[in-house]
Amino acid sequence: MRTDRRNFLGATFGATAAVASGANGLMTAAQAAAGGAQLLDAQVNAYLSRDPAVRAAAADDFGRLIHKQPRAVLKASSGADIAALMRWAGSQGVKVAARGLGHSTYGRALVDDGVVIDMSGLNTICHLQPDRIVVDAGTAWSSVLEATLAQGLTPPVLTNYLGLSVGGTISVGGIGASSSRYGMQTDQVVELDVVTGDGNELTCSATTNPELFDGVRAGLGQCGIITRATLRLRRAPERVRRYQLFYPDLAALTTDQRRVLSEQRFDQLQGAILPDGRGGWRYQLEAAVFYDREAAPDDNAVLSALSDDRKAAVTADLTYREDALAFAKFENLLRSNGHWFHPMPWLLTFLRGSNAELVAREILAGLTAEDIGPLGRITYYPFRTNAFRTPLVRLPDESLVFPFNVIRIPSSNDPATTERMVAQNRGLYDRIRKAGGLQYPVGAVAMSRDGWADHFGSSWPRFREAKRRYDPGDLLAPGYDVF
Ligand SMILES: Cc1cc2nc3c(=O)[nH]c(=O)nc-3n(C[C@H](O)[C@H](O)[C@H](O)COP(=O)(O)OP(=O)(O)OC[C@H]3O[C@@H](n4cnc5c(N)ncnc54)[C@H](O)[C@@H]3O)c2cc1C
Repeated sequence: MRTDRRNFLGATFGATAAVASGANGLMTAAQAAAGGAQLLDAQVNAYLSRDPAVRAAAADDFGRLIHKQPRAVLKASSGADIAALMRWAGSQGVKVAARGLGHSTYGRALVDDGVVIDMSGLNTICHLQPDRIVVDAGTAWSSVLEATLAQGLTPPVLTNYLGLSVGGTISVGGIGASSSRYGMQTDQVVELDVVTGDGNELTCSATTNPELFDGVRAGLGQCGIITRATLRLRRAPERVRRYQLFYPDLAALTTDQRRVLSEQRFDQLQGAILPDGRGGWRYQLEAAVFYDREAAPDDNAVLSALSDDRKAAVTADLTYREDALAFAKFENLLRSNGHWFHPMPWLLTFLRGSNAELVAREILAGLTAEDIGPLGRITYYPFRTNAFRTPLVRLPDESLVFPFNVIRIPSSNDPATTERMVAQNRGLYDRIRKAGGLQYPVGAVAMSRDGWADHFGSSWPRFREAKRRYDPGDLLAPGYDVF
């Protein structure tokens, strides 16, 4: 890579840099600044790792479907580092992808021959107050939760899996089991520090730089790289009573899901359609009541008049922390049997409440257990949309919407099977779109630019304007191919 020493230094660290690189092959800005005037050459190469192992680690993601080799990796240690890199990238026309904790399934944090910014080291918990926490964007949600629980607090919305970064989920939305009440994680953001595509460090909120705030939350990394986030908190409940109820068919499941949602019986509501091991499906409602030690819920009252197979019901009583971290057990299982490392051609969508059951039924009729994998599932449950306010979070325009997420966990890594599943995703997405549904853009669906314009609908013109303004060189997050 040719580097421009004057541009990089002039715009950035304002000092000399180092030629030697750190133990991991990366040189931080602070290290460089500390290097002093005797250092030979202030090349950009001193900050970027071209170590083959580091580049290889940044060339794949959780989905293992797309492979793109970056020319170099920056291990970010501050917003200033990132701003410097962006200004340099602008001068060179080099594309840049921020990488949080790498859980994209379709190459969204990858870049061919560009620079990946590894955000994982930017993970300081900066301040904690009774109503908010300030964290660096590379922080994992599990670390955010540990810090807040120490004060009896929690983010209102947690994703099911907490090994995702704050910046990574804010870039897509961040939906969780409490979203019916609190919307997406993007709805619980107070303020963000962002480095724009043209290398400016800006703070944004609903009142300061609101166009940037709206362009970055669920903006697929197109307008800026989030470096720090101020997130709302609420008091954490002490305990969780969790219920798994089983139904003979989709209609019975849907009826009870709608009923408990409208009666607000639970603090969390989710559900799934699972392979039953005999070539059919099992229908599961999953819900939870939060409580404090002295006020345990009355199970009979909570489950009254529901039509599930009560003998099969499973009840668990957990601390709030145990419940929030429960996915880690499933992760351990998948890691131990190797499935975690297989390709993951997931499809995540939202169906309109008014036709969700019909569309789900039609799709299920064409799917087999092999399409999902023995440990896979289809997430299916209703949530209310009135708490969702982030402009770029796209949901069908109805008061009730159903996620319909085809979480495929293939039992082999056979390329032909994977290819077939990705092709199937395309057909399912088209079917769902025709029925008024939308995708949650974290799955394995190839999208054309027209497809993205269709996806963002009425938000598209403002999004495009924000892109022009904040990333005029179209450098950021090329893995989505939005613009
Ligand atoms: C096992 C598993 C469980 C999941 N569960 C949920 C769930 O319950 N709810 C939910 O909503 N989602 C869930 N997801 C999807 C997940 O939220 C997204 O894939 C998310 O983007 C991953 O975050 P990450 O830190 O790993 O990001 P990466 O994969 O590293 O990056 C994702 C995208 O965000 C961009 N990005 C990353 N960091 C930044 C930043 N700081 N600033 C700007 N852009 C950035 C990247 O460029 C890329 O385009 C799950 C995914 C997996 C694999």
